[in-house]
Amino acid sequence: MTTFTALALIEPLIRALNKEGYTIPTPIQQQAIPHLLEGRDLLGFAQTGTGKTAAFSLPILQRMATFPKKRKAKEIRALILAPTRELAAQIADSFNNYGTFLDLKTIAIFGGVGRGRQISDLEKGVDILVATPGRFLDLANEGHIVLTNLDFFVLDEADQMFDMGFIHDLRKIIKMIPAKRQTLLFSATMPTDIANLANTVLSNPVTVEVTPVATTAEKIDQRVIFVEQANKNALLVQIMKDPTITRALVFSRTKHGANKISQRLSGNNIPAEAIHGNKSQNARQKALDDFKAGTIRVLVATDIAARGIDVDAVSHVINFDLPNVPESYIHRIGRTARADTTGTSISFCSTDEKPFLRDIEKLIRKSLPTEISTTVGTESDRLTAIDDAKRELSRKTPARGKFGDQKRHLGNSEKPRRPNAMPSNKLSPNAPSQGRPNSRPHPSKGAGASRPHQRPQGSR
Ligand code: AMP
Repeated sequence: MTTFTALALIEPLIRALNKEGYTIPTPIQQQAIPHLLEGRDLLGFAQTGTGKTAAFSLPILQRMATFPKKRKAKEIRALILAPTRELAAQIADSFNNYGTFLDLKTIAIFGGVGRGRQISDLEKGVDILVATPGRFLDLANEGHIVLTNLDFFVLDEADQMFDMGFIHDLRKIIKMIPAKRQTLLFSATMPTDIANLANTVLSNPVTVEVTPVATTAEKIDQRVIFVEQANKNALLVQIMKDPTITRALVFSRTKHGANKISQRLSGNNIPAEAIHGNKSQNARQKALDDFKAGTIRVLVATDIAARGIDVDAVSHVINFDLPNVPESYIHRIGRTARADTTGTSISFCSTDEKPFLRDIEKLIRKSLPTEISTTVGTESDRLTAIDDAKRELSRKTPARGKFGDQKRHLGNSEKPRRPNAMPSNKLSPNAPSQGRPNSRPHPSKGAGASRPHQRPQGSR
């Protein structure tokens, strides 16, 4: 079995890894580290949860320590771009943890918080800068960041950056950085725009690919409960009575919905907070910290806000709403069963959401066990659900013509569906082949079949 020492990592890194309790490199670490130590460019097909952060940060730290350069005001040697603030902060934490016995300085910069501290840190001198594209461009354009000595450039979660509309920012940034550098690009999927971007930024890259999404999901005990929209809140409260749900991440499609779910839980003495794009960065960080510390048992999140969140020991992921982009399902349930642990995902599926379930099953290439909830919400739940449906409908009504479809997907969710979302069977290394042998789930089939109309109480 390969060890970190066998990968020729230097002693200060091995010591830091021991401190973290990591002994065996994950597959992406085994595949990527030797090439990266040689200075090769790399195209990595991997998603969070595979250990990809260490796969790129360890060799970068090693090469920087082995070929030291004097730290100078505003100059950086490594630039890591990430789509969200939370992910940028996490990556910077990883660099700091793994580099704890090296004399290298890492900071993260992102929007939503003051710039003063970031500018003064850059002024003092930074080796590794982890940034979201917008704040990076702002500070670089104002002359706070000098790139002449840049040796390492990493684009993490490139497909997410594309989804979030950062492609133009990325192109601008790529024009700013020196041609001679080591470049790494990680993406879970490879839509055409990202493939084109990879062609322009990478030079003779090695390609590494780990655990196809469909098999990643296999470590997770996945279940679906058919429930009407108006009864979802009552079902969630009931499910949360299960003490084995120690830390639950609940996904809502909309920001408004996330707030309401967390209020409803809190009103039932289930400590919960919501995290989404309308919350200030400080509120988001506080919710995340409380969740990590166990002060709250439930974090309710939208897809964008949850992107890249790495919290240990999330026992359950609950899809209050099913995502209309099937890849999001994989990203969501991947928040549980991190590293070597296992986890459970429970997805609520209303009648309207059944087409989304079919898309998900097609992507993961299996039918999910289903059961039917008999939980009934209150009259006020029913009225709220009607109000929500009306609100959603009024949002859809003006959508006509060219952008009609896109608006229909929007709701008040945080970001539009990828305009040219890659068909799951194209280009993606993780995509299933076309067609699906046992496609359609049915309440009368699957694990729930033997106990139709059973209450999902005691569900794990
Ligand atoms: P990432 O895919 O980078 O988000 O990492 C997923 C999780 O795995 C993080 O919590 C890491 O700290 C953890 N991790 C990374 N490498 C290892 C390893 N070799 N052994 C055990 N855990 C790891």
